[in-house]
Amino acid sequence: MLYRSRFAFVVVTACAAVGLHVTATPALTIIPTFDTTITTNSNATYFESQINSAISAIDSYIANPVTVDITFEGVNYGLGSNSLDDGTGLSYSAYVSALKNHQRLSAADDSALITLPTSFPVPGDTPTNPNQEIGLGSPLARALGIAFNGPVGGTVYANLGSMMLPQYSTAQNDYRYSMQSVVAHEIDEILGIGGDGSSLSTIYYGYSGTLTNANVGPLDLFRYSSDGVRSFTTASNATAYFSINGGKTNLVNFNQNPNGDYGDWTGTSQVQNWSGTPGRVLNLGANEMTALDVVGWNLTPLGTALETGQPVPEPATMAILLCGGLPLLARRKRS
Ligand SMILES: [Zn+2]
Repeated sequence: MLYRSRFAFVVVTACAAVGLHVTATPALTIIPTFDTTITTNSNATYFESQINSAISAIDSYIANPVTVDITFEGVNYGLGSNSLDDGTGLSYSAYVSALKNHQRLSAADDSALITLPTSFPVPGDTPTNPNQEIGLGSPLARALGIAFNGPVGGTVYANLGSMMLPQYSTAQNDYRYSMQSVVAHEIDEILGIGGDGSSLSTIYYGYSGTLTNANVGPLDLFRYSSDGVRSFTTASNATAYFSINGGKTNLVNFNQNPNGDYGDWTGTSQVQNWSGTPGRVLNLGANEMTALDVVGWNLTPLGTALETGQPVPEPATMAILLCGGLPLLARRKRS
């Protein structure tokens, strides 16, 4: 509720004050802290600019007025990883209620919500634990208005020795990774998609039966093996995919390799692919936007353009969209 009225105020004020030449008001604010492992590196300026690029992109795609504090650390293992400062478990019904009542509902949300039953699990689904909770990281909990007093944010770890550098030759960079893309992947996870959007990693490798104790992550609710059949197996020979219409449409396959995150993608190179893509600078795309949207975030016009595959609006066009969209938003108000 607070968000809607704030949005309306911002739009009206912006349009009245500066005509059509306004940009969307970015509402997500990620505040970076650079650890000394980065600030003392000989390529600190470059790494910090790459991290800032990833942050400003994500800030421009998400509309929720949430502040997320993220510390960035350089490490010499893996490629990228992250830890959340805090999180909370929420009953399934409370989570769905928050999705319905604390979001600005997009077309993707409308589709996704229809697929979420009033109680979970439904007969035939695994897990079958009636006390199943949905595990939410602190940023997503804050976005959904869940009472939460802990710190909102986390830490991103990046292997500095594996990253592309501007002073390297093409050949040297071809087997290294884009700092911006790796950091975007990890920030996504702190926001509740990718690895941190799934709780399947809490189940031992090869498990294919019924979950009894583990929580389910928000993204696991949209994980299917076929039309109408959710998948919670960690079997490496299984196929699971992300779908927001009950399994009818496969948007992208989820990773089933136990060496990676079950909430990450596999297949065509994308930011959220579990194993990263050397030699390429990847930007966030439709699948990452859709995932962020349906787990509870609101997208800006820029984020929605990315989600729906529409051309990214220029600032002037965007202002028209913002102004023109206002009556529609007002009509879409829900209890
Ligand atoms: Zn991941």
